[in-house]
Amino acid sequence: MQSLWNESDVAQCRDELDRRVYSSRLLGQHPDLVLHGGGNTSVKIKEKNLLGEERTLLYVKGSGSDLIDITRAGFAPVQLDHLVKLARLPKLSDPQMVNELKTHVTVSGAPTPSVEAILHAILPYTYVDHSHADAVITLTNTPGGLQRVKEVYGDNVVIIPYVMPGFDLARLCAQLFFEQRQPATQGMILMNHGIFSFGETARESYERMIELVSRAENYLQKQKAWQISLPAMAQSLPALRLPLTQLRQRLSQVAGMPMILRQAYTPLIEKYLQHPQFPSISQQGPATPDHVIRTKRVPMAGQNIDAFNTDYQKYFNEHNATAREPKTMLDPAPRVILDPQLGLCTLGKSSQDAQVVQEIYSHTMEIILRATQLEKYQALPAKDIFDVEYWDLEQAKLRAAGKPKLFSGEVALVTGAASGIGKACVAALLARGASVIGMDLNVDIETCYQRTDYCGVRGDVTVREDIQRALESGVRQFGGVDMLILNAGIFPAAQSIAAMDMNVWQKTLDINLSANLLLLQEIYPLLKLAPRHGRVVVIGSKNVAAPGPGASAYSASKAALNQLLRVTALEWGKDNIRINTVHPDAVFDTAIWSDEIIQARAQAYGMTVEQYKQRNVMGVDITSHDVAELVAEMCGPLFAKTTAAQIPIDGGDARVI
Ligand code: ZN
Repeated sequence: MQSLWNESDVAQCRDELDRRVYSSRLLGQHPDLVLHGGGNTSVKIKEKNLLGEERTLLYVKGSGSDLIDITRAGFAPVQLDHLVKLARLPKLSDPQMVNELKTHVTVSGAPTPSVEAILHAILPYTYVDHSHADAVITLTNTPGGLQRVKEVYGDNVVIIPYVMPGFDLARLCAQLFFEQRQPATQGMILMNHGIFSFGETARESYERMIELVSRAENYLQKQKAWQISLPAMAQSLPALRLPLTQLRQRLSQVAGMPMILRQAYTPLIEKYLQHPQFPSISQQGPATPDHVIRTKRVPMAGQNIDAFNTDYQKYFNEHNATAREPKTMLDPAPRVILDPQLGLCTLGKSSQDAQVVQEIYSHTMEIILRATQLEKYQALPAKDIFDVEYWDLEQAKLRAAGKPKLFSGEVALVTGAASGIGKACVAALLARGASVIGMDLNVDIETCYQRTDYCGVRGDVTVREDIQRALESGVRQFGGVDMLILNAGIFPAAQSIAAMDMNVWQKTLDINLSANLLLLQEIYPLLKLAPRHGRVVVIGSKNVAAPGPGASAYSASKAALNQLLRVTALEWGKDNIRINTVHPDAVFDTAIWSDEIIQARAQAYGMTVEQYKQRNVMGVDITSHDVAELVAEMCGPLFAKTTAAQIPIDGGDARVI
């Protein structure tokens, strides 16, 4: 592990807090040290308050920040002397501790200080860094872990036996640290948890972290437990979208809500799945308490998930029976599923959650494989895992997470999603918590959003293989499809019937009509498995009810599509899939409406462009956003019992009314 320290970057720092921000971000750049929200850092700074009184503040990482991009505001200033006094109390409940932390910050609006703040406070060094370093956990999570840690570090570290994070851990550290500290002490190893380093400068503390963790890596290397020989992988996997969608449906049932399922298959995953001891190593607990809530339990390959659910219920009841305050059961769905065919599947209430679990578990697999090469992986006993999972503070975090969004855990596919109404639908669905697969011919589709809940696939909706490819990528990323927005379409230049170019006619029917049949065919097996039942919304057209001269190809294709969907509603009602149509008109902020087309349409009606644009009875503008908001709501509970409805969004068309 290399130090990333760069003196010329540090020269930009104005003060100690700046240097704290700088070296915290360096720490965040090592994924082998900290992952998403993991790890924490602090600095102790003497400051004068408004009355001129000097006091020392502990600037400690607050909740809601990741080390990799933390800012000054991500640190909570807490009164150090108060924290040190708290550490001397014989007992402090977690809610009391959080209350003390929150009420002793000196800036209103500061984030809640880390639950490890008291531990940072008692360590008598200006800078303190804490990580859950993979290499250190690999050492500690073996039967001979304690001996190995002593062998690697000698008197450079103080060793703390496992205690759940919180006040008791801080208190134990306060006691053991001062009993065992030597002049050579540079850090502290917390068994089955992680490592602290400290120093008088930001550089000293950070580089001690790098040096101490490197020693664990070197030790593993010497013991031939560092390199994992990875197998060569088959070129491509077979189509997985149906088994993945089935798995997601079952897991969503167990969880009691729609969930996102994310699939991955890498050489590391293959190695893990084929390990001779896979059945036992994969059933072990997480590597560090920081990962418990998010990874939960790992059902074995091929294990029946319902049976797993029953086991969990039993486990929960047994532990809960003796608890003074019974806990509300968390949703019992596992977050990690390993399957020889599907690879690693991770589950979350959102795409981001599922991705975080995937990253954490990828590190966990490395830790487990290395520990197995070294000796034997040994996680915390079940009781300790349960204690962390049902920890007051974790329960409080869950309560604080608040109400889920309308489409949390659900997935939508939008065609023609790179511009106009399609693009607006993507935005409306993302805003309501859905994960979205966008499909378009335009290459921009791949990059219009850089977020884990968006998957852009370039493809032609008239080509069955392109549709299959889009569904396959989308389902591997999200686990299924719940909503389909049929939007892709073209509006060819005006042509009279007499002069109709048959190629234009055919192309219009292919894109506006037949492509949608292909999509419906390909997506049907997936929509049937949607946890809250499948929904389709079609972007129709006012032309269905009120066609215009010169627009025969467009009007005929949209009218035929309308019939296609009415029949689909009849056929799929038994599967609880509902299909509704919006008929927009004169949505001029879309790619279809070039200036030439607007001019031509106005001419066809004998109007000026201005008259044409405001010809609806309400005299209102209709935007892509207006249409998209209606489309999104039609996928929601308000329309739960409506199918085959056709809703105009056109400001009122006198010819239709
Ligand atoms: Zn920790």
